[in-house]
Amino acid sequence: MKIGEIHMPQAVYKLSQQTIYQMKHYYQSSLTTTPQGAIFRAKTPEAVITAYKSGKVLFQGAAPEKESKKWANTNEVVAPKAASRSQRTPHAFVPPTTLYTSNHMGTDEAGTGDYFGPITVAGVYLTQDQIHYLKTIGVTDSKTITDTKIRELAKKITAMNIPYSLMVLRNEKYNQLQKKGWSQGKMKAVLHQHAINKLQEKIQGQQIEGIIIDQFCEPPIYQRHIRSEQLSLLPHTYFLTKAESYSTAVAAGSIIARASFLKEMDALSKSTGMTLPKGASKIVDETIAQIIHKYGWDFLNKCGKTHFANTKKANTYL
Ligand code: MG
Repeated sequence: MKIGEIHMPQAVYKLSQQTIYQMKHYYQSSLTTTPQGAIFRAKTPEAVITAYKSGKVLFQGAAPEKESKKWANTNEVVAPKAASRSQRTPHAFVPPTTLYTSNHMGTDEAGTGDYFGPITVAGVYLTQDQIHYLKTIGVTDSKTITDTKIRELAKKITAMNIPYSLMVLRNEKYNQLQKKGWSQGKMKAVLHQHAINKLQEKIQGQQIEGIIIDQFCEPPIYQRHIRSEQLSLLPHTYFLTKAESYSTAVAAGSIIARASFLKEMDALSKSTGMTLPKGASKIVDETIAQIIHKYGWDFLNKCGKTHFANTKKANTYL
């Protein structure tokens, strides 16, 4: 929420605690003495930034907007003047092409179209050298790789001590959120953002040029979803569809997410005593019917995304 803009060399915004926390990390090498009532003060060549406990953040100096736009963009401008509307246009979310070969983070998910099993989201941070190396060992879009190869590559990636984060939303929790009114889009957005924040904490102090999210919805919708859970975008976050074809970090994320999904499916298959099929086809309907026969309806809650149409279709086999 933008609360005021006094003519140019100064701007005041009201930002979330989460954003202020992220800013403090971001500016950690530029921190100066904290004034009374403030959380931090940082000095960059463009501006002096002071964040107060009230949530007010003051940007002053030669070009304060250069700093403020990194943060205020990600927050809703409540009563925008036509000229000061600072929400980024969709185009602004397209990554610069130089990013793919620079140190960056990428995120991708698995399991969203599968009736059985969780949603998994992984974030991976790669340096320039690692990008080059992973390309040579065949890290690319997980949809074009066999499951066996995915497991192999995931092992190789994790054995390299590459920083990554992994979020697993299992069926019980998924169904609970769904009944609470969460769309799958919101679940995905929140999982991606948690994966990013967790990984950002792990790589503190390392140089990073940006973050690429494999785009599954329009960026403003993603922002709305995460904002409703008090999360916000980190600076230099970009969205791109089919990002795994461009970014090796996203491709590595897709492999780790998929490998985790496969592992979860193995465990679920073991616990049900039958091989649970992937996807959401007719075989899935038949399997649901078998599970209901064997264990009853309640058991489905632990292994399936029960709001999928497959649950109803299974009735024809009962
Ligand atoms: Mg994807």
